[in-house]
Amino acid sequence: MDNKVCIIGGGPAGLTAAYELLKAGVVPQLFEKSGQVGGLSKTVVYKGNRIDIGGHRFFSKSQRVVDFWQEILPLETPAYPAAENDLIMLLRRRLSRILFLGNFYDYPLSLNKRTFANLGLARTFKIGCSYLAARLNPIKQEHSLADFLSNRFGRELYATFFRDYTQKVWGVPCEEIPRDWGVQRVKGLSVTRAILHALKQMVKVHNKHVETSLIEEFKYPKFGPGHLWEEVARRITTGGGRISLHTKIVGFTTSSGCHIDSIVVEDETGKRGEIPTEQVISSMPIRDLIKLLPDVPPDVQQIAGQLPYRDFITVGVLLDRTQVAPLQDNWVYIQEPDLIMGRIQIFNNWSPYMVAEQNTVWVGLEYFCQEGDDFWSLDDDRLKELALTELSKIKLVKDSSAFLDATVIREEKAYPAYFGTYNQFQEIQTYLAKFDNLYLIGRNGQHRYNNMDHSMLTAMAAVDFLTGKTQAKEAIWQVNTEDSYHEEKK
Ligand SMILES: Cc1cc2nc3c(=O)[nH]c(=O)nc-3n(C[C@H](O)[C@H](O)[C@H](O)COP(=O)(O)OP(=O)(O)OC[C@H]3O[C@@H](n4cnc5c(N)ncnc54)[C@H](O)[C@@H]3O)c2cc1C
Repeated sequence: MDNKVCIIGGGPAGLTAAYELLKAGVVPQLFEKSGQVGGLSKTVVYKGNRIDIGGHRFFSKSQRVVDFWQEILPLETPAYPAAENDLIMLLRRRLSRILFLGNFYDYPLSLNKRTFANLGLARTFKIGCSYLAARLNPIKQEHSLADFLSNRFGRELYATFFRDYTQKVWGVPCEEIPRDWGVQRVKGLSVTRAILHALKQMVKVHNKHVETSLIEEFKYPKFGPGHLWEEVARRITTGGGRISLHTKIVGFTTSSGCHIDSIVVEDETGKRGEIPTEQVISSMPIRDLIKLLPDVPPDVQQIAGQLPYRDFITVGVLLDRTQVAPLQDNWVYIQEPDLIMGRIQIFNNWSPYMVAEQNTVWVGLEYFCQEGDDFWSLDDDRLKELALTELSKIKLVKDSSAFLDATVIREEKAYPAYFGTYNQFQEIQTYLAKFDNLYLIGRNGQHRYNNMDHSMLTAMAAVDFLTGKTQAKEAIWQVNTEDSYHEEKK
């Protein structure tokens, strides 16, 4: 099968597929349209300062994924310390909170004394009443995310902590987002659980661990997530695999409507070439894939053409540490109604090695938008100005004297969305399943809200099938179908 498996995309899914194929003795050829591997999980370096556009916590319930990460970047130990080794995974503490009306709230939200004190008596009373009302008289037929969340948390708590942020992220009202989205994302969360959690905390009040109860540990590469993927890519090429950067898939030739004969690639200079192939593993967005395949039935074209995505902009801002209010969070959700940013990342707290100078604080302000919309098209200088204004508004800095430098990153198709024509997605899947030599993997490759580990597992399932380890091609689509994964862990 040498040189006969083409992989589209050099993100976690594509690279995992290439690495696993090599291990099975198959030499893969991978094409990546950008100049860097890692996809959404890349690390962007700006003057020695690193940006993780996620940020990406390395967590997985799959031992196979954990072993993969450990093989590439072993975990730090006293015998293998981070100060002396670069190919290393750090163990980091997690803290993430919500900033709302000038106060910090735990994330996930805890219903404890501090939360109620911050909310004030009147709002707490309203939240309690509307929760009771939701329990006594729930919306009978939940259609939308708004219905789902109101039934679980009560209208007032939903409006205070969920509604505006969710709308900011997705760009559409919660009424237009299907209920199923909530089922997957917040299944483990409920007011009852939050109250139980708060009670447990009270019992543990004399326990010295109480303050760290919301701080979990997670693994993180010394130089951000891209560091791991760069090492995987290095091993693929040294093992004989081929990775072509700046090479975009721009077409396919097919026979009998269900077999891909070749892929058409285009390099940076616009030069095109046709590469015959026996198997195609694709992690490129399904919407783009359908556009490139010849003779796709019009109804499938129409559904795929309207699959929605959400894009975002990160403004990386370098600040003088002496002028920044100290924050221990990895990231903070910004619920302030008058601010446009959705979250702020403090990269120093992900890994101290993300910053070039320890006397600086390196933050990333995230703005959710739509590729091509007015915000997406804003001039970089305007975006940097906005970032600085918003940093002052949340009182992270006093004024512009803290500002040292900034950069802007636009990330397209960061989130595959589950509205628009997504409810007809099965038709696309059924159509693509007819191709006997096409395997769809990854996040946008399956149009599924996959984390890195899910994206990797889809790649592993594809390779297992291709190399004869398993017999069921459908297994590739069975990754990340359990309901409860996300919110419990993110
Ligand atoms: C804000 C955010 C936070 C996240 N946090 C976490 C987290 O904490 N933990 C976690 O595990 N996961 C997290 N994720 C998810 C993680 O980033 C993705 O699951 C993972 O990167 C998906 O890998 P992939 O290879 O499927 O896709 P991608 O990373 O999107 O890679 C696809 C690659 O294909 C390339 N490509 C596209 N079209 C073409 C073409 N026509 N020709 C050639 N190449 C092409 C792209 O350039 C890209 O490099 C987060 C994602 C986001 C956006």
